[in-house]
Amino acid sequence: MADERGDNLLISNFDRYATEGNEFIAVVYITERDRYTAIPGGYHERVIVQGDRDALRQAVREAFDYARRAGILRVQVNNAHVLDDLEAGILDAGDLEIVDPGGVRPAGMAGLIAALRAHRVPEKRVQDLIQQDDLRCGICGRTLEISDSDSETVYLSCPTGEDEHTDYRIDLPASEEPDRSA
Ligand SMILES: [Zn+2]
Repeated sequence: MADERGDNLLISNFDRYATEGNEFIAVVYITERDRYTAIPGGYHERVIVQGDRDALRQAVREAFDYARRAGILRVQVNNAHVLDDLEAGILDAGDLEIVDPGGVRPAGMAGLIAALRAHRVPEKRVQDLIQQDDLRCGICGRTLEISDSDSETVYLSCPTGEDEHTDYRIDLPASEEPDRSA
């Protein structure tokens, strides 16, 4: 039987797009994933954090506990408040590996674009993605987040981690060869 368990959790940046009734609220999503794809039926928490930083801390503690119980070793943190709390020792990741978004604190579209440049995505590609509005989820319109990366690839996904929402990969050019395609 296939193991529907992920190998990492993603803690998203603030989603200020979310609504509750007629009000805009700030939400953070915590999603269990296999590499950069959400696991159907996996751990998925939608944390409402408007004016309530403790709610986020408590949710992150619970997610860390879940990760340890489930044998998940890696947590990608795209949320600057959570990264700050980890640095300050308010949150303790213990032996979990914390992955931050490459030293760039994303904040909306400008942050995402800065992060893509920091990951060496060619400028032409960045401009194409902006032009084609491909840096937003095709389903809900939220700004995508970098959900994983290595030296060859950057993965982008909708912060909600919902099924059918946008995720895709960008292959990076080999570092030795200058980009001549432009
Ligand atoms: Zn979406």
